Amino acid sequence: MTATILDGKEFAARVRAKVADHVTLLKEKHSVTPGLAVVLVGEDPASQVYVRSKGKLTVEVGMASFEHKLDADTSEADLLALIARLNADPEVHGILVQLPLPSHLDSDLVINSIDPSKDVDGFHISNVGLLGTGQKSMVPCTPLGCLMLLRDHHGNLSGLNAVVVGRSNIVGKPMAQLLLGDSCTVTIAHSRSKDLPAICQGADILVAAVGRAAMVRGDWIKPGATVIDVGINRIERDGKTKLVGDVHFDSAAQVAGAITPVPGGVGPMTIACLLANTVTATCRAHGLAEPE
Ligand code: NDP
Repeated sequence: MTATILDGKEFAARVRAKVADHVTLLKEKHSVTPGLAVVLVGEDPASQVYVRSKGKLTVEVGMASFEHKLDADTSEADLLALIARLNADPEVHGILVQLPLPSHLDSDLVINSIDPSKDVDGFHISNVGLLGTGQKSMVPCTPLGCLMLLRDHHGNLSGLNAVVVGRSNIVGKPMAQLLLGDSCTVTIAHSRSKDLPAICQGADILVAAVGRAAMVRGDWIKPGATVIDVGINRIERDGKTKLVGDVHFDSAAQVAGAITPVPGGVGPMTIACLLANTVTATCRAHGLAEPE
């Protein structure tokens, strides 16, 4: 069997086109320009790449992009003061603080200082609680992108066995909540789980969000299962840096029914969902109908 490739790049382009249409409508009909502020503290190279591409795509869909690059030794008080200014700024509808933050800054405190209605990453404790109780919230972008790919491929997810490997607050846990919300039977596995291959073999939907290159092998996968590979791992091969996922693609693609590639799978969906969340936040702020 050779798996269907779930093309996140193409899907994300369609999501961004819809976002751009909605932005045009907001500008022309309501004189509102959605604005996204991204805060980067320090010079982490991967974060710099993400922030650059977020800024570029924000402008491409017609939104206003506000980038705030702060020195690595920025104090917590200064960062909190900036967030307070962004919270109060009517031109800013979405605020994203790029993680990880330098270790002298308390990430939880910083994230929870963002106005929850502008928290387009969905990491504020209020949004986490709303998602966990099935209420309208801001949904974290990466799991939302995975859910969109899954819904597009399966239609209805009800009753499917889903295994999420990884329990982080930004991917694993919200992914599990979303799958539960779509009536999957959900198992969350992590580094202390016993017999991970056996757990994975029971999955109709397998989401790998671990951060270990090519950990999930083909013989861990139930024939015909859908595999979503969230991992982004940089490895050195033949003197070059290569991006690989948490799934061993070649062996997995022989067994799975469908699989996301790395790169070109979940990654592009994350940014597309960030832009979609910013439009949603803008509509909510102005009491306008939200995009579907
Ligand atoms: P974290 O490091 O926060 O979490 C990793 C999780 O994997 C933890 O729950 C950990 O378990 C679990 N884990 C680690 N080793 C094993 C193991 N050997 N067996 C089973 N479980 C294990 O990572 P993130 O959730 O932030 O990110 C996961 C991956 O997704 C990374 O590669 C990251 O780069 C990528 N990512 C991709 C995004 C995208 O847009 N495509 C966005 C965000 C992340 P425990 O809790 O027990 O330690």
